[in-house]
Amino acid sequence: MPELPEVEQAARTLGEQIVGACFDGTIRCSWLKTIEGYAPELLATQLADVMVTGWRRRAKWILLSLDNQMTMAAHLRMTGRFVVCGRDEADIPQQRVAFGLCDGREVRFVDQRKFGRIRLLTPPELHQLEDAHGYEPFDVVLTATVFFSLTQSTQRIIKAVLLDQTVLAGIGNIYADEALWRAQIHPQFPANQLTLVHVTRLLDAIQTVLRQAMTNGGSTLRDYRDSYGAKGTQQDNFMAYDRTNQPCYRCGTPIVKMVVAQRGTHFCPQCQ
Ligand SMILES: [Zn+2]
Repeated sequence: MPELPEVEQAARTLGEQIVGACFDGTIRCSWLKTIEGYAPELLATQLADVMVTGWRRRAKWILLSLDNQMTMAAHLRMTGRFVVCGRDEADIPQQRVAFGLCDGREVRFVDQRKFGRIRLLTPPELHQLEDAHGYEPFDVVLTATVFFSLTQSTQRIIKAVLLDQTVLAGIGNIYADEALWRAQIHPQFPANQLTLVHVTRLLDAIQTVLRQAMTNGGSTLRDYRDSYGAKGTQQDNFMAYDRTNQPCYRCGTPIVKMVVAQRGTHFCPQCQ
């Protein structure tokens, strides 16, 4: 499932191709749940002659700002990806929706597992989406002290806290395991027993791991592709995730996999 680095990369590579372009108001949709809550005709009407003015990411959402005050919000969930191509090109297998652009291209959403979603948001709805998520890991207001107060205020284990999108936004199973390995913290350690030193190290590890993954275009375990169709390479740099029984790069102890916070969790039982 795409996490912050993959969504950021998908958003950037989509934005590079369509910021400045206009939707022409044509839509071809073969799976209505992808555009939940909208009749394709209604969506088409709202997108006619509407320009994409910018892109950004919030949590695991791709946000395209439009010049009609609305925002197109897309969540890739497990297997969603965007493809921008000529309208004449053949439909792609598992293509769920295609939005026509005035320049003869189409923005297509391909999604094998069909959990991905695309919505048009009004400004209040955008506000609501923003408010539903916690701190961005690179937000300057997220200092170690702020993060410490977040961990102090819960009795949960740290892995569960890292996965909670209302605390930190954009971290999923892969980067939680990677950050905890780097910070040498056991995934089941109670969050409120972490010291400020631990938490400072963990925040640094989170940012380092995410930054490295963004540099490498995210991780591609199976399906993930950016909006040009390229795979990420961060999977080649995993230190804990997906390394069950392989020696820890720090101490040589075999990496263990067990279920923590309902997720398959990889960690070093010796040095974490
Ligand atoms: Zn180790």
